Amino acid sequence: MIKINENYLKLQASYLFSEIRRRTDEFQAQNPDAEIIKLGIGDVTRPLPQVCIEAFQRGVAEMGTADTFRGYGPEQGYEFLREKIAATDYQERGAEISANEIFVSDGAKCDTGNIQEIFATDIHIAIPDPVYPVYLDTNVMAGRTGAFNDGRYEGITYLDSTRQNGFIPELPPQDVDLIYLCFPNNPTGATITKSQLQTWVDFARENKALILFDAAYESFIQDPDLPKSIFEIDGAREVAIEFRSFSKTAGFTGTRCAYTVVPTSCTAYTANGEAHSVHDLWFRRQSTKFNAVSYPVQRAAEAVYSSEGRQQAKALIDYYLKNAALIRKEIEALGYECVGGENSPYIWIYGQTDSWAFFDRLLEKAGVVCTPGAGFGRCGEGFIRLSAFNNHENVQLAIQRIKKALS
Ligand code: PLP
Repeated sequence: MIKINENYLKLQASYLFSEIRRRTDEFQAQNPDAEIIKLGIGDVTRPLPQVCIEAFQRGVAEMGTADTFRGYGPEQGYEFLREKIAATDYQERGAEISANEIFVSDGAKCDTGNIQEIFATDIHIAIPDPVYPVYLDTNVMAGRTGAFNDGRYEGITYLDSTRQNGFIPELPPQDVDLIYLCFPNNPTGATITKSQLQTWVDFARENKALILFDAAYESFIQDPDLPKSIFEIDGAREVAIEFRSFSKTAGFTGTRCAYTVVPTSCTAYTANGEAHSVHDLWFRRQSTKFNAVSYPVQRAAEAVYSSEGRQQAKALIDYYLKNAALIRKEIEALGYECVGGENSPYIWIYGQTDSWAFFDRLLEKAGVVCTPGAGFGRCGEGFIRLSAFNNHENVQLAIQRIKKALS
């Protein structure tokens, strides 16, 4: 008899986005003339930078000629891209990362989801609340949790991000082995300082733990004092893995390219305490299960590192940050407490009421779709998330309508 992985039965239905869709569709059906503005989703709306399109097209043309055609590429990614990433995103900022420590992939979603495979099933995991759900669900699938009760899985240490702690969780009370952190954060938009991040790195070193640092939104960081990478922090090379993506940096959500940095000095242990290279394990996993990103896409990603590419990608980020600043300023002016929107595309708003009730109010009174915070975890209750990924005109209109509806 074929049996299923019963851990899948513990997963909660991905209620959040389907419920948002259901309520939005229902409202639209009842109000066919209403022009709904969606500030809920985390997908970019602007086209790819022109340099990426040109590099993409040149890459495709090369595939059409026998002399330049390429078949299977290196599983870790082409060196031309990994060298640029290491030099620009790390060495230029004083972080000691080399090209052989970069693994190019088709998404930070896949990498943050797959990485747990190389660790033991009985390790103890710490996960933020509220959270990007992939970290949690992939550990549920792997059998690292008990049942779901009262909104939480048994066996997980939740790292509460609240108004009281400024949305930077405190260090976990007990020993944990694998810690997920995400800054700038989705959904709260909070950022972490170097000294705060140092305490996490020190904790990991003291406890032989490992930090999985999701920096998918690093390109939104404008404040020069904030770390863009965990590898700007002393001692992180031994205890951290970092995930980055071209999705939000350069509009690649539909094109697919990201990378994960696993330093060669990063160590994990067997049950009897023997140290092993995490880099080697991840290399083994990727070369067995992953076929690399297509050549033209890697050329398109490489173009982000040219001087025009950097300018064009920056223009995209500036575009969304202008939206974010407007949303934050106007919502704060209405008397609501906000986080994010400064070094992040997300604005986390304290609605002081049930987050679905707030969602309904914005939808019915302003025709604006947000994301209710409760969908990201228990600590998200009372909050909503607005996203800056839309065009200026829509954001301006949404703000006018929200002001009318809430004041
Ligand atoms: N990590 C976080 C925190 C995200 O919010 C997202 C996408 O929304 C991702 C990773 C996924 O990135 P990618 O498009 O590279 O899979």
